Amino acid sequence: MPAIRPLPPLVVNQIAAGEVVERPASVVKELLENAVDSGATRIDVAIEAGGADLVRVVDNGRGIAADELPLAVTNHATSKIATAEELERVGTLGFRGEALASIASVSRLTIRSRPEGEEGAELRVSGAASGDVAPAGCPRGTTVEVRDLFFNTPVRKKFLRTAATESGHVAEAFGRVALAHPAVHFTLAHNGRTLHDLPPCPAEGGGSDAEEAQEGAAAELHGDGDADAWRARIASLFGEELAAALIAVRSEDRREDGSVVRLAGFVAPPTHSRSHTRMQYLLVNGRAIRDRALQHALSEAYRGLLLTGRKPICFLRLAMPAELVDVNVHPQKLEVRFAEGGPLYSQVLGSLRAKFLSTDLRPGLPATPSPDAGADDASHAGSGELETWAKRGLSQRRFDVAASSPAAASPPAFRPFPDGGSGSLSMHRFAGASSAPTPAPPQAGRRVDGPDATPTPSPETIRALQLHNRYLVQETDAGLEVIDQHALHERVLYEQLRQRVLAGPLEKQRLLVPEPVDLSPAEAAAVLGRSELLAKLGLDVQPFGGDTVLVATFPAMLRRFAPAEAVREIAAKLIAEGDSPDRRDVLDDLLHTMSCKAAVKYGDPLTDEEIGALLAARRETQDHHHCPHGRPTSLVFTREELDRRFQRI
Ligand code: ADP
Ligand code: MG
Repeated sequence: MPAIRPLPPLVVNQIAAGEVVERPASVVKELLENAVDSGATRIDVAIEAGGADLVRVVDNGRGIAADELPLAVTNHATSKIATAEELERVGTLGFRGEALASIASVSRLTIRSRPEGEEGAELRVSGAASGDVAPAGCPRGTTVEVRDLFFNTPVRKKFLRTAATESGHVAEAFGRVALAHPAVHFTLAHNGRTLHDLPPCPAEGGGSDAEEAQEGAAAELHGDGDADAWRARIASLFGEELAAALIAVRSEDRREDGSVVRLAGFVAPPTHSRSHTRMQYLLVNGRAIRDRALQHALSEAYRGLLLTGRKPICFLRLAMPAELVDVNVHPQKLEVRFAEGGPLYSQVLGSLRAKFLSTDLRPGLPATPSPDAGADDASHAGSGELETWAKRGLSQRRFDVAASSPAAASPPAFRPFPDGGSGSLSMHRFAGASSAPTPAPPQAGRRVDGPDATPTPSPETIRALQLHNRYLVQETDAGLEVIDQHALHERVLYEQLRQRVLAGPLEKQRLLVPEPVDLSPAEAAAVLGRSELLAKLGLDVQPFGGDTVLVATFPAMLRRFAPAEAVREIAAKLIAEGDSPDRRDVLDDLLHTMSCKAAVKYGDPLTDEEIGALLAARRETQDHHHCPHGRPTSLVFTREELDRRFQRI
């Protein structure tokens, strides 16, 4: 056994890098945090090859004096805290003093900087070897260039994914910092192409959460200017459509010891959701974090409003005195520990519930808060009301009964598509507001649940009984019919789709942010080789480097599925088809797949109005006796047969 000895600094730093620098996105995050901490008003990020070849972050902040440059890249050297006491109340994003040292130990790093009124200087570090500080002409601020990440740690390098995947992670890390600091102008470019240019959205009140939290409980926070600035930043990152739909939330919790915890931000209405939690942005004193408990509070608030597997979208900021949160619990500072988690959980859940109760969230209408809606008006409505509303919301989405239109008075129908496409969404289960055909009428007052809006089916529309959430039983002239709900709905959708697709491309939904989907080489080739055919189905896929495809639009009827899931399933079908000479066959097969995916499932409970709609649609279906796979959609027991079985004849 060799003797115990201290590790050389390079190894120490590489061990730290193992925790801190996982991939290019981690480098971007650390450099961005340094730039923000430096007080910069403009920060430009450029990456090449997903960040593996180059990450460059340029800021116009306060800079580093030439003689301090070597310290900046030394482990455990920081200008941000000096004492253990200060570690208890960190007001900056950085404090560990190890990011630059760690990054430099696994890359070729150049740092160039010039404080106001001083000469610029530059320092190069490559793995263990550090050069000398040399004079360099540069504008005020700091530029850090990180090249050839993991060049000296080949195992780590192997874990890097395609440039597209890595650049996706970089964009996410960039978004998290940019969201937290709307007053700073951020840009992001990949291989020379600008991905984001986020103009500054200064808040009227000014000041970041971190600063505000430092100022203590008395500060007047979250004026409307603040919310507007934030909505503008969200719009430039994630698109106007989402930003406009967001519902503002705000609350203040005064704790017993007099400290104040403020929650402000936005949540998306149930019409906007994701299959993942990556669109759940939670900032604590200006730092984007993940917190299981608060994520749980969020999903609790949406309980009954979203389908299983769908995750809410939120942009929430918490501002609290620094003593209430321990930021020194995670090497990448992605998690924090709250001094009092319970009250925080209740605050988040309570504020959202109260807001939802005072907001009309019906699909097709922009979420309209009532004028008197505040964070603490939960008392207006009991949970029973929420439940009624939630249930109604779900059934409406399922078959898209246009509750706000006069047509809602008549039973909803599985009508064929009209020529315009988006006019009839009747066949789209769970369709969202994005394709609502009519502009929303102005709303006034609190609208938790309007009796006027509920389409009550007249008794004659309820003609069948659902059994075991899978079969519909109804009386017919001849006797008794048992319908297989999934098989019938699949048939109905299939015929509607076939008519529609022969007339023109299917209705599609444009994704807010085109989604990269990683495929196997065979899947990518199959999908890209048939991109024209897929476009007819509303699915626009483009090559995105490697085996990644970029999904820009998506068949509207499959909107409740994650693009990745649907694209992979379609790819599997295409591969199975091989090079079928008959395009019709391939198309037909894809239509089967789509109808099967979009149809109600065994086990799905249906409301009376949904049953009525399904049966009405059946009348317009040519072959409603068989599902597209050839199985029967219903079985008939004649009266005669029943009589015979009961030994009446
Ligand atoms: P930390 O941010 O935890 O202090 P870093 O290794 O990230 O540790 O940075 C070390 C020090 O280098 C910082 O404390 C800061 O003084 C200085 N520094 C790093 N980046 C910048 C920058 N962009 N502008 C000004 N100073 C910087
Ligand atoms: Mg740092």
